[in-house]
Amino acid sequence: MKIIETVDEFRQAYALAKKPLGLAPTMGFLHEGHLSLVKRAREDNATVAVSIFVNPSQFGPNEDYGAYPRDMESDLRKLEEAGVDLVFAPDAAEMYPDGFDTYVDVGSIAERLEGGHRPGHFRGVATVVCKLLTIVRPDRVYFGQKDAQQCLVIKRLSRDLNLGAEVIVCPTVREADGLAMSSRNVNLNAEEREAARVLFKSLQLAEYMFFSGIKDANELRRQMRHTIEEEPLAKIDYVSVADGDTLRELDVAASPALVSVAVNFGKTRLIDNITL
Ligand code: AMP
Repeated sequence: MKIIETVDEFRQAYALAKKPLGLAPTMGFLHEGHLSLVKRAREDNATVAVSIFVNPSQFGPNEDYGAYPRDMESDLRKLEEAGVDLVFAPDAAEMYPDGFDTYVDVGSIAERLEGGHRPGHFRGVATVVCKLLTIVRPDRVYFGQKDAQQCLVIKRLSRDLNLGAEVIVCPTVREADGLAMSSRNVNLNAEEREAARVLFKSLQLAEYMFFSGIKDANELRRQMRHTIEEEPLAKIDYVSVADGDTLRELDVAASPALVSVAVNFGKTRLIDNITL
């Protein structure tokens, strides 16, 4: 496994790499969710690359860029075990050198849900993914359904700017009690970790209601809110039942609807979703 920190060095490695090449972009502090993308990439491609970069431009000024968990040594061990060929781990100055002044704005799909609550977030995501795709030039790029809106934003970006990588979305990997794996889960204390079970519980409730014949999206959102609010440590950012393509809020839930939640537990903000 080759660990590469600069764009120039990656270009050289690219020239020598067997194709097709698959890339899984990450912010590190890797867990089984990330490794599921790597596994899928390993099955599909002759060369597997993983990027590790905590991207400052996708964090708001009051968000957790500084507190975002990092452990490069452990990450590299896991990637080596998973059979990764190339790790691209640039520092912030390599990705955003002095004078950097070009950003990518994806349109309406990036304005809703996470975009509405985290202004500038998807501008940062789209910019860094655009850069990663032009540096790494993968044939396929792997993302997790856990960040469902991010997947839609990247598909739009890749199509609109002809970035040339096939975007492959992999299922959400969960803990035994249903909590979606996330690097941020490590920041939950024991009470918050227990409380965070309510995320998946609320999504399961929506699924149960939907398949019991309740299609009124307001009712689904109301019952989900009620479930989450029963948990005193949970502070809701949003509860959404939206069209799976446009992310517009629905009046009547119809398959495939994206049911998603963003909830704060203390200082930790978690998101999760299911598709009906
Ligand atoms: P992150 O390091 O949080 O930016 O995530 C990197 C990639 O891993 C993104 O495409 C995420 O959607 C994906 N990912 C994160 N958590 C999970 C999970 N629990 N299951 C599947 N994919 C995940």
